[in-house]
Amino acid sequence: MTTKNLPTSVDVVVVGAGFAGLYMLHRLRALGMTVQVFEAGSDVGGTWFWNRYPGARCDVESMEYSYSFSDELQQEWAWTERYATQPEILRYVNHVADRFDLRRSVQFKTRVRSAVFDEDQDQWTITTDGNASVTAHFCIMATGCLSAAKVPEIAGLSNFKGDWYHTGLWPQEGVDFSGKVVAVIGTGSSGIQLIPEVAKQASQLYVFQRTPTFSLPAGNRPLQPQAVLETKKNYAELRQQARGSPAGVASYPVPTRSALDATPEEREAAYEVRWQAGGTAYTRTYNDVMLSQASNETAADFARRKIASRVHDPVLADALSPKDVLIGTKRLCLDDGYFETFNQNHVKLVDLREAPIQDITAEGVRTSLTEYKVDALIFATGFDAMTGALLNIDIRTSSGKTLAKSWAAGPRTYLGLMTAGFPNLFTITGPGSPSVISNVMVSIEQHVEWITDCLRFMREARHTHIEADLTAQDAWVAHVNELANATLYPLGNSWYVGANIPGKPRVFMPYVGGVGRYRQKCTEIAANGYEGFRFSAADGAQRSADT
Ligand code: NAP
Repeated sequence: MTTKNLPTSVDVVVVGAGFAGLYMLHRLRALGMTVQVFEAGSDVGGTWFWNRYPGARCDVESMEYSYSFSDELQQEWAWTERYATQPEILRYVNHVADRFDLRRSVQFKTRVRSAVFDEDQDQWTITTDGNASVTAHFCIMATGCLSAAKVPEIAGLSNFKGDWYHTGLWPQEGVDFSGKVVAVIGTGSSGIQLIPEVAKQASQLYVFQRTPTFSLPAGNRPLQPQAVLETKKNYAELRQQARGSPAGVASYPVPTRSALDATPEEREAAYEVRWQAGGTAYTRTYNDVMLSQASNETAADFARRKIASRVHDPVLADALSPKDVLIGTKRLCLDDGYFETFNQNHVKLVDLREAPIQDITAEGVRTSLTEYKVDALIFATGFDAMTGALLNIDIRTSSGKTLAKSWAAGPRTYLGLMTAGFPNLFTITGPGSPSVISNVMVSIEQHVEWITDCLRFMREARHTHIEADLTAQDAWVAHVNELANATLYPLGNSWYVGANIPGKPRVFMPYVGGVGRYRQKCTEIAANGYEGFRFSAADGAQRSADT
């Protein structure tokens, strides 16, 4: 669609055509609503459109990291590996877009710049980077939690004569590093997946590490036809299990025992079983790994010894080994040969704790000790997570309230779905919901379905205006914080608390109570007449949910 064909007014504007935006569009169409979707990328896929770096792969198993809303879709689609690669996931998203005829409502290559709510007209005006405007009764942000790529503010980048890349904004045509001297800055999930792949091409690879990372073997493998058949036969039940589970993953174990109640030998055996199984369920070996520092240390110690066994040089192994860090408080990484990559002669670790980066020169990266001359520079430095993509849009009301001011001390939402003071604006997997601490596909489907039901309810009750109540929001924020503070999560210097963005308020953003408990809460709130939300009609009449 070109800007010329853009409608001037629709029922709903959806921002983003990733998994959340596409499913939202599908459900809104079924409600008979007119919808305009805006997407910055040139095609569908969201995070899987942008993160095309070599080695990119999901860390939730493919049979679970997929839509469940259409049984025909889940029965017909054939995943090939335990963890799907980025190209396979992108093929899947494209298949979904075609299968449900979604593209015709999406304007691609269009970034939303502002969303302004007219309090007299009860409508949003959404304006794009091309200065096109559309009015809509509702605006739904499906902007993703990890979509605002962060290139660190290191002096001198503009002087660099070589090519530089960010993993989250990878060129569509790919990059050939054959024979090149390459620097990678960052050793989180993206860096850990990318580094072994770039090492296969580069003549020399420098890995700039600020904080060593816990990474577990993914244990990826081709899916066996019999296992796929079995899963497909039981899909309805498995999906139901996932929806009610803590992490939104049916195959995760639900531990019942403390690590401290096990003998050292039992712990060693139990961690070994999880380690060999692969995947992020490792921290679920015992029920208090994320609750008790002493239990956490048993899991961390085992993981450190595994790192030591994977790296030949003990000094290097020590430098790659996280110390004074609780395992799992930063998002756990899964790798395929990450630590072993450092056993190769042409791969060199640059430990930034010994000598921090000073600046980027015309020819490379300069630390306080020396200059590393490189042909190409890769930032695997992550994202302004959860709030970045929302705050990059100027979201305001006609009376001058701005989301930026409302969230100045950290995001405040009711259920992660709405923010008080911003009527008719929904966020899918917003801060204060399980989102990134869950199988996000399960969380996306739950939010989309809740919003759809809410809009249907409003239509039937003739409400045109919905707003989160400030008191309900304050209580929800307090609940989210209370749950988080009972765990070890807030102690990590992670993007969950915004620690990777200088100046970002330190607030633990996701809801850690589990997707099952969260879903139950959302369902109860809806069943109780949308407790904590205020409604009114076009004629200005205030209505509570049951009138
Ligand atoms: P990340 O986890 O935030 O890691 C960023 C890395 O860059 C960290 O090692 C960080 O060091 C380093 N860094 C940042 N600024 C730096 C600076 N100025 N100088 C030196 N180092 C710097 O980002 P990510 O790896 O892109 O992953 C983000 C999230 O995306 C993941 O946690 C995961 O949820 C998701 N993801 C998932 C997958 C998957 O499904 N397998 C793959 C990729 C990403 P510090 O630790 O010291 O801050």
